[in-house]
Amino acid sequence: MKNESCISADVERVLFSETQLHEIVERIAAEIERDYRDCTQPLLLVGILKGSFVFLSDLVRALHLPCRVDFMSVKSYNGTQSSGKPVIRLDLKEPIEGMHLLLVEDILDSGNTLSFLREILPQRGPASIKICTLLDKPDRRTRDIHADYVGAVIPDAFVVGYGLDYDEKYRNLPYVGVLKPSVYEHKE
Ligand code: 5GP
Ligand code: MG
Repeated sequence: MKNESCISADVERVLFSETQLHEIVERIAAEIERDYRDCTQPLLLVGILKGSFVFLSDLVRALHLPCRVDFMSVKSYNGTQSSGKPVIRLDLKEPIEGMHLLLVEDILDSGNTLSFLREILPQRGPASIKICTLLDKPDRRTRDIHADYVGAVIPDAFVVGYGLDYDEKYRNLPYVGVLKPSVYEHKE
């Protein structure tokens, strides 16, 4: 079935089609390759769960560099509003001393999650820490943080698909779309 013919009824408009997402991933992978090509220490991609899992799985396959993969889960989000101080729910499996860390996020919004990780991870002695985010929503930023690799800057709208959820739904949509406000209004 063609992608266009199965747009979810809950999606107001598509922001990035499958084809556009593919182009974004290829561009970011090329940027990462250029920057890490000559590194001698290992590159560790850290997927921030759950939202990054689709992006990360495409990104690692587009990346022609030796790399390792691990995951963290940080909870600070309820419904469509970021809430309070993040807490680690799933931590890295191995020590990261001497490794180049690339934190892979689905979307940089208030900046709470990534500024928290930027604060705590240096204590574990990595060689470097950089941030890669598929989407960047700068209008809602409350922390002084920026990503080193950005797929696309988007306006202040709640988006779903390609790993991003609303109440655990829509992660499997192959595109990124703006969720109809009627889906979440009166529910928060
Ligand atoms: P931050 O800590 O930067 O406010 O938020 C980061 C997390 O909030 C993201 O990793 C994502 O899980 C969630 N988030 C922020 N904006 C959106 C959005 O528009 N749609 C969805 N589905 N999640 C979002
Ligand atoms: Mg996330």
